[in-house]
Amino acid sequence: MKKNEIFQTYEQCILNTYTRMPVIFVKGKGMMLEDLSGKKYLDFFPGWGVNSVGHCHPKVMAAVRDQIGKLIHIPNNLYHPAQAQCAREIIRTSFAGKVFFCNSGAEACEAAIKFARAYGQKKRFEIITMKNSFHGRTLGALTATGQTKYQDGFAPLPEGFKTVPFNDLQAVAEALTEKTIAVILELVQGEGGINIASKDYIQGLRKLCDEKDILLFFDEVQTGIGRTGEMYAFKHYNVRPDGMMLAKALGGGLPIGALVIQSGIADTFKPGMHASTFGGSPLVCKAALGVFKAIYSQKMLQNTKKMGKFILRELSLLKEKYAIIRDVRGLGLMIGVELSVPGQAIVQSCFEKGLLINCTHQNVLRLMPALNVTEKQAKKAIAILDKAFCELGGGAS
Ligand SMILES: *Cc1c(COP(=O)(O)O)cnc(C)c1O
Repeated sequence: MKKNEIFQTYEQCILNTYTRMPVIFVKGKGMMLEDLSGKKYLDFFPGWGVNSVGHCHPKVMAAVRDQIGKLIHIPNNLYHPAQAQCAREIIRTSFAGKVFFCNSGAEACEAAIKFARAYGQKKRFEIITMKNSFHGRTLGALTATGQTKYQDGFAPLPEGFKTVPFNDLQAVAEALTEKTIAVILELVQGEGGINIASKDYIQGLRKLCDEKDILLFFDEVQTGIGRTGEMYAFKHYNVRPDGMMLAKALGGGLPIGALVIQSGIADTFKPGMHASTFGGSPLVCKAALGVFKAIYSQKMLQNTKKMGKFILRELSLLKEKYAIIRDVRGLGLMIGVELSVPGQAIVQSCFEKGLLINCTHQNVLRLMPALNVTEKQAKKAIAILDKAFCELGGGAS
């Protein structure tokens, strides 16, 4: 298919739910993407954080190639070694508990919502979530999402959700009722603009939830699997959740999601209460094992900490140079640059110069390079950003 035929076919045959950039990518390797015409791009936003170990990492490719010739799928009323190994690795790196496998972040959040309701035994069912959060697009996850722009037009939404301001412990305490069963939040809000939860807040939430026997869920769909420099962001807080949701980077590009539930309560779910046809298939579990191997073999957590600091420092220098940069913040390689103006023009300018970044919440540029990004690649990205700011008249401050 030629370029224009592809564009036309999308228009004719694919539901119009996305705003797409007019580019067709055909190859990826590490931090690089190549389009149909052979132009190369430095990818500082690999699939919303899906390709955290880089595109087509050799460890992921090897695992998938090995499995695909043996067995791709078996249903979940049977056993497979890869699912056992994958669950064990998630538990080993997080906390004592049990895993439910599904196919996406939204499904992991749905599983958490159902788990909370099951735990509430019909007496308690209210779930508290945060303003500017993001938990996915299915109806339950959408209702948990504290941004009305995603919900508009889809009423009636499921009952039993309350949204309170982020990083405000008092607001949670005031929203509690005798029907509250769970609190769900991201430790670093991704779509909401890279808002980092404070340590006091998270430790306070843990204490509050413990006192009232309320479940505390961390949605680590974006922060998990090394993104913040720890395997899971909760490790920065010295606090353990009752449940954790994973997806995005877990499968290295293959669709896998997971809900991890702490041991003491894991058996709330009994046979028949929840299910997924594809969840945790041999193929995706093998891919996830490949992702873990990739992270260990290249010491990516250390690199994420180091390069996260480096990029933040470089961006702070840009902040001194350009008045439109209001704030620079991040944890590991989950980095936001808040502007005083909409950020789409900067994203567009970077794109033309061969750098892929994202803009969320209108005015927050988001950078999430692969966890093995090098200093050279980071410098190149910063130089392109610098040029984009310069050209778009950011103005010296
Ligand atoms: C992306 C995301 C989701 C939804 O994941 P999907 O795989 O798109 O359903 C949920 N929670 C967070 C924090 C996310 O970043």
